[in-house]
Amino acid sequence: MTLITTSPFDDDHPHEECAIFGIYGTNEANINTALGLHALQHRGQEASGIVSFDGKHFHAHRGLGHVGENFDAASSEMQALHGHIAIGHNRYSTSGNANAFMEIQPFLSELAFGGFALAHNGNLTNAARLRASLVETGSLFQSSSDTEIIVHLVARSHQETVTDRLIDAIKQIEGAFSLVCVAKDMLIGVRDPFGVRPLVLGKQGDAYVLASETCALDIVGASYIRDLAPGEMVIIDKNGVTSLKPFQPQNSRFCIFEYIYFARPDSVLEGRGVYHARKAIGAELAIEAPADADLVVPVPDSGVPAALGFAEASKIPFELGIIRNHYIGRTFIQPTQKGRTDSVKMKHNANPATVAGKRVVLVDDSIVRGTTSRKIVSMMRAAGAREVHMRIASPPTTNPCFYGVDTPDKDQLIAALKSIDEIAKDIGADSLGFISIDGLYRAMGETARNGDAPQFCDACFTGDYPIRLASGLSGKRVSHGNSR
Ligand code: AMP
Repeated sequence: MTLITTSPFDDDHPHEECAIFGIYGTNEANINTALGLHALQHRGQEASGIVSFDGKHFHAHRGLGHVGENFDAASSEMQALHGHIAIGHNRYSTSGNANAFMEIQPFLSELAFGGFALAHNGNLTNAARLRASLVETGSLFQSSSDTEIIVHLVARSHQETVTDRLIDAIKQIEGAFSLVCVAKDMLIGVRDPFGVRPLVLGKQGDAYVLASETCALDIVGASYIRDLAPGEMVIIDKNGVTSLKPFQPQNSRFCIFEYIYFARPDSVLEGRGVYHARKAIGAELAIEAPADADLVVPVPDSGVPAALGFAEASKIPFELGIIRNHYIGRTFIQPTQKGRTDSVKMKHNANPATVAGKRVVLVDDSIVRGTTSRKIVSMMRAAGAREVHMRIASPPTTNPCFYGVDTPDKDQLIAALKSIDEIAKDIGADSLGFISIDGLYRAMGETARNGDAPQFCDACFTGDYPIRLASGLSGKRVSHGNSR
């Protein structure tokens, strides 16, 4: 099989990562999982999959594209997903890759003890080494995904029970991972020892639910029980929920970028509402980087809550000066006219009725390569804005993520290459301000960043990576297959 060489990072934009969902104890496990994945669509739009288990047999359906395209409630594929347990996954896939189908999770394998289904959100930092040694000793990989490594490690474990095999496998992996698995009439959930990626537990009647975010509990009418603790494994079976702590405990380092960008604003993660966190970041930004202006305009959708917070704190009116087209999907057929191929214009358009003649503060959540800011600032000027002041609801992104967020190499991160003044010039803004790292922590309700034991993973802003990286990774993004 040809190994994947196309990088998922090669377009000019970073991408959201994946979502996982699992449910135990309802005969509508299939429908609930499709609904949960639908609520988590923002974490990955390129492919989705569901594996169910009916007590005897596993059933699987996967497809490229959005959840709704693959899991129509009335479809025969959906009806065939029998059972009282199901797990699902949304991913951003290696687009343009002929083998993309092989990358779609959940993975389902027949192991010595029976079927084993697995879905993963995150990224393993020791994947290349593990994969090489597995291949050398005979493992036949079907995909380029780091997630498949976990399947091989479980398959080869000499432990007796499925849970002990999984623990054995997990002890060999490093990186960020939230997992859902099905084996032996059990639904299992695992969070890595640093708790970098989210995973929540909920209850729907007699059924239990695991999901990347609480918005997926809401859609299936499940009540929130708790977030899994870092390093926790939960086993859900006919006896209910059993919690294990098999891994070396670490200080929690939840990804702060989940609050800034990834998670849906109506989700509550680790006890913090995402929407309120974003508004608080915007308010703190207004204090740290004020602007003399007539209007606060969000870059939709990700900049909206921070812009609301900025407007409230600065008492500058909030206006929708940019309108977003929500119907740009992967199936969009590129028009031939050159002027209409500008992807940012296809996604965003300035509203001259609100911005003409005005001094505008534009608020976005982050600048990665600068592509979006550059285009949106010039769009504001073309619409007649008199001044454009860019304010960013995160500190400068100076380092790639190796824990599940697709970011380009350091040499493409504009903030790693240029000073703030240089970036302002590059994107054409009259001024540019970012929230500081301590301001970000204050907005999250902390008094300051604890330099000895930071409360979050903020490596993309600080370069302080909590989980060791394989040698050679520090400036580079992960270049082998990814799990997300
Ligand atoms: P860039 O245009 O390269 O500067 O990227 C920044 C823009 O991408 C902002 O509008 C963000 O909302 C968005 N963004 C930031 N991080 C990500 C990510 N990991 N995936 C997708 N979009 C992102």
